[in-house]
Amino acid sequence: MSNDIILRNGTLVGSEGTTKGDLRIRGGRIVGRGDVGASSDGDQEFDVSGCLVGPGFVDLHTHLREPGREEAETIASGAMAAALGGFTAIVAMPNTEPALDNVITVSYVLAKGAEAVVDVAVAAAITVGRAGEHLTAISDLAALGVRLFTDDGNGVQSAAVMRRAMSYAAPLGITLAQHCEDESLAAGGVMNEGALSSQLGLAGRPAVAEELMVMRDIELSRLTKCPVHFLHLSTARSVALVAAAKAEGLLVTCEIAPHHFTLDESSLAHYDTQFKVHPPLRTASDVAALRSAMTTGIIDAVATDHAPHASELKDLPFDQAPAGMLGLEQVASLTWEALGENPDPVRFFALLSRGPARIAQLRDEDSRVGLSAHGGELTVGDDANIVVFDPRMSYVVDRAALASRAHNTPYHGRAMHGRAVMTLVRGTLVARNGELQ
Ligand SMILES: [Zn+2]
Repeated sequence: MSNDIILRNGTLVGSEGTTKGDLRIRGGRIVGRGDVGASSDGDQEFDVSGCLVGPGFVDLHTHLREPGREEAETIASGAMAAALGGFTAIVAMPNTEPALDNVITVSYVLAKGAEAVVDVAVAAAITVGRAGEHLTAISDLAALGVRLFTDDGNGVQSAAVMRRAMSYAAPLGITLAQHCEDESLAAGGVMNEGALSSQLGLAGRPAVAEELMVMRDIELSRLTKCPVHFLHLSTARSVALVAAAKAEGLLVTCEIAPHHFTLDESSLAHYDTQFKVHPPLRTASDVAALRSAMTTGIIDAVATDHAPHASELKDLPFDQAPAGMLGLEQVASLTWEALGENPDPVRFFALLSRGPARIAQLRDEDSRVGLSAHGGELTVGDDANIVVFDPRMSYVVDRAALASRAHNTPYHGRAMHGRAVMTLVRGTLVARNGELQ
C-alpha cells in the first residue's frame, strides 16, 4: 500500500543552483528526485511547476510566549503560524515568564514543541532570569540539545559577564546570540534617535547603542574564540562591522528582521504602536544598506523576531505599549520582494533556510537532539522538511486571518507577492495555500 507524496515539475533549489524535477516523499523522507516515475493508487501528486521547491524555512528568532503569556501566543499557535509561513523549524526565544533559563523550563518547551506542527528548538538564556548577572547552567542546557543561548529582549550589558559566558561556551560547541543594545544609551527610548524623534517629541534609541555592543562582542569573540550571532541588526554600520569581522575570519554571524528591511522610522509619524520595536525602525538609508547586504552573503539569515502581543497592550499609549510585531506568516514574501527584480532563489533559501539551519545546528546529525534535519540539499534519504514557494502568488495581509493568537502586524492591508504554498514537515503536509492541513 503506497501513500507517497509526489511534487511534480518543480524548480529544486540547491545551495549551488537550481534544477527542474520531481521529488518523491515516503515515510518522512525524500526517496526520489529528478524523474520519479508515475504515481500509483494512493499517492498524492501535486503539480508544482513554476514553484520553487527547497528546504523548509528555519526561523532563528520566534517569541512563542509560552509559558506566561499564552493569551498572545502558545507553542502550538506559533508553530501553526510558522507552518503557514513555510517554516519547518523555529527557535523559541527564552524571554518567557518565567525565562527559559533552567533545565525544567527548557524541557517543558521542548516537550510541547515535540507535539507542534513544526520542529521547535530552544534558545536558552545566558544569565539567570535574563538579569545579566549570573550564568545559567549552560552545559546542562547544552546537553538537552540547546545550541543557541541569548538573553534576547535585552543584551547582556556587562562586558565581563559576556566574556565569562563566551569563555565557558566556546569549548561546548554552542553559539551565543546577542540582542545588541547598550541600555545606558537606549533605555527609555521608543524609536530611532534622530531629527524625526525630536520632531515627534519621542525619546530616541540611538544607532550607536546597537553598534557599540556589536563592536564589543566582535572583540570578545576574537578574544575567546566563541562564536557569536548578532540578532536583528538594524543599522548600516552594524552590518559593516560584521562584514569587516567576517573578512578577518572571526566567528561571527548575523540576522536581520523583515521589519528592518521593509519599514523605516517614518512609519512612526502617526504614533502607531504597531511599528514600535526594539531595536527601532531606522532611517531609509539603513534600510537600503540592509537590503543591499542581503544579496552579498554578509547577512547569514533573515529571522522574524516574531513578537506577539495582546491587543490591550498594543493599544496602550506609545510610551507604554510593548515593542515588537508578528513576522512568521509574511517574512518569505517580504524577503522575496526585497531581493529585487529578479530574486536569486539560491540566495532566498540561503537567507531563510540554509543559513539559519547552519547557525541553529539543525543540519548537523551530531548536534540536533530529537529534531529532524533542516536546511539540506533535498538529497534522497534526507528528512522531508520542504517548502514549496510560488513567486507568482499575490495576497493581501488580513490581521484577523492570521494563525497567531495576537494580531499585531504592521502589514495589515499590504499586498504581498510570493507565498509559501506547501509546507511538509517530516513528510507530512502541514500547510497548503494558506490553510493548515
Ligand atoms: Zn531582541
